[in-house]
Amino acid sequence: MRLLILGGTTEASTLARRLAGDDRFSPTLSLAGRTLSPAAQPVPCRIGGFGGADGMARWMRGEGIEVLVDATHAFSTRISENAVAAAKAAGVPLLSLVRPAWARGAGDLWIDADSLGDAALALGEMPRRVLLTIGRQEVAAFKAEPQHRYLIRSIEPPEPGDLPPDTKILLQRGPFSQDDEVALFRREGVETIVSKNAGGTATAAKLAAARTLGLPVVMIARPDKPAGYLVETVDAAADWLEAKISGHLAAPSERGV
Ligand code: NAP
Repeated sequence: MRLLILGGTTEASTLARRLAGDDRFSPTLSLAGRTLSPAAQPVPCRIGGFGGADGMARWMRGEGIEVLVDATHAFSTRISENAVAAAKAAGVPLLSLVRPAWARGAGDLWIDADSLGDAALALGEMPRRVLLTIGRQEVAAFKAEPQHRYLIRSIEPPEPGDLPPDTKILLQRGPFSQDDEVALFRREGVETIVSKNAGGTATAAKLAAARTLGLPVVMIARPDKPAGYLVETVDAAADWLEAKISGHLAAPSERGV
């Protein structure tokens, strides 16, 4: 079965690795190309945009793709809109893998925000030492609140023109441990953390560290993300694909698109 997996997440790579060991599946992983030095991937990879939904549908037809798997990040909505439209146009089923959101637990001091702009405002007027863990692409939203001292953690450096005036960059790729996060927060005098509600385990240690130190976390809620048949784990995605390839997936049980 020829699959296109839209990736850029740990789950996409894990699913690809799992399918790579099964010769019934022939997966290609697609990355947007945001990271200049992406981690090595276990299956053939294509990199860069398709040129919208039409381009993706054309690419799938050209490659004889039989199933589309959208395993992109919970905050990546445009690619998921394209996936829904392209799956329909190409007449292939769409499986969407989105990890569950983090839930506030006892002792968490979360401040809810609906957007990056909201998150910047939620930091308040008093200057604070703020750790931004939102990736590198959207840090410009914090230029509107230049009174804070920012520590920005990302895999690759943000564009210089996107930076608030008082910024230190920390180039790191997860996963992170709780002990290391506590040590970082102490060393850097972090007073507030800003995070997208990405979910998953690779970067969850910052939340436990914030809880331990009694620090507030400005948590940005997920946007609505269009989906096909929706699953939350790599296991569930693999089970669905297994059922699909064995012909055991009854059409009426499919949800979504
Ligand atoms: P987005 O806003 O939903 O998509 C913007 C455009 O980028 C899409 O229209 C598409 O271009 C291209 N694109 C996105 N993902 C692609 C993929 N996997 N393969 C090929 N083209 C892709 O996406 P984004 O939020 O910028 O995310 C880009 C990538 O980073 C995704 O792979 C995502 O999983 C990963 N990521 C995002 C975040 C985040 O916070 N947003 C965090 C971690 C990882 P065309 O229309 O030209 O096809």
